[in-house]
Amino acid sequence: MLEGKVAVITGGTRGIGFETVKVFKENHAKVILFGSKKESVEKAILLLKEEGLEVEGYCPNLSDYEDIEKTMAEIIKKYKKIDILINNAGISANKKIEETTVEDFEKIMKINVNAVFNMTKAVVPYMKKNNGGVILNTSSMVSIYGQPAGVGYPASKFAVNGITKSLARELAPFNIRVNAVAPGITKTDMVASLPKEQIEPLIKTIPLGRIGETRDIANAFLFLASDMSSYVTGNILSVDGGARS
Ligand code: NAD
Repeated sequence: MLEGKVAVITGGTRGIGFETVKVFKENHAKVILFGSKKESVEKAILLLKEEGLEVEGYCPNLSDYEDIEKTMAEIIKKYKKIDILINNAGISANKKIEETTVEDFEKIMKINVNAVFNMTKAVVPYMKKNNGGVILNTSSMVSIYGQPAGVGYPASKFAVNGITKSLARELAPFNIRVNAVAPGITKTDMVASLPKEQIEPLIKTIPLGRIGETRDIANAFLFLASDMSSYVTGNILSVDGGARS
């Protein structure tokens, strides 16, 4: 489904991003993964190599626009174009407001929102030059109804939806589609760090009766990245077992 396409995926070293790298490779894309540290990028590349999947990786500071620009220029030099960008890197929060520091709030916004802006700003000129592209963001089911603690997290994902819907309008004339996937609770390290008391009641609210697998989410990205979704833009696709309803 992605033959000949070049995809950049942030947060590609673990969880949802790592699985998406795999699914995109299985569908014949050229994939460049980004991670937060050199060691985790190398580890992910090695794991993929063991499965016969060749990818390249970088670890620019997603809060540093100049660092991102430099990395993008390197990628363009090598691959000539970027067809697909997935802004997937993210961190969560679960502290009550009294325990959340100003720094905690700023940190989550920097990674979950500013990095999406920085990456997108750096890639759009190349997509315009290439007469099109696809930008996908990882939102969350909490971008619909919030969550009872860790206010910075849902706030950041509401912002991701805003970026998605606005840029879909701005970039449609350039044949650039912008969509987001809003996963429900999904089996990754991020969820493993949540207390059991928080997860179990959540599962009870999921109509499909289970937590999402990373492949459930990666498959949604595949659909939105491919020409199968050629008339879809500005959409926040919930992949949450029906949990939002
Ligand atoms: P994860 O913790 O397994 O992976 C997070 C990824 O983001 C890693 O590859 C990590 O390198 C990268 N990352 C984190 N901080 C970074 C930083 N400062 N700079 C660069 N990269 C950084 O998490 P996951 O569950 O796979 O989450 C991926 C995305 O999915 C996030 O945006 C998250 O908000 C979203 N999400 C997850 C769930 C869930 O239940 N797991 C639900 C809804 C949305």
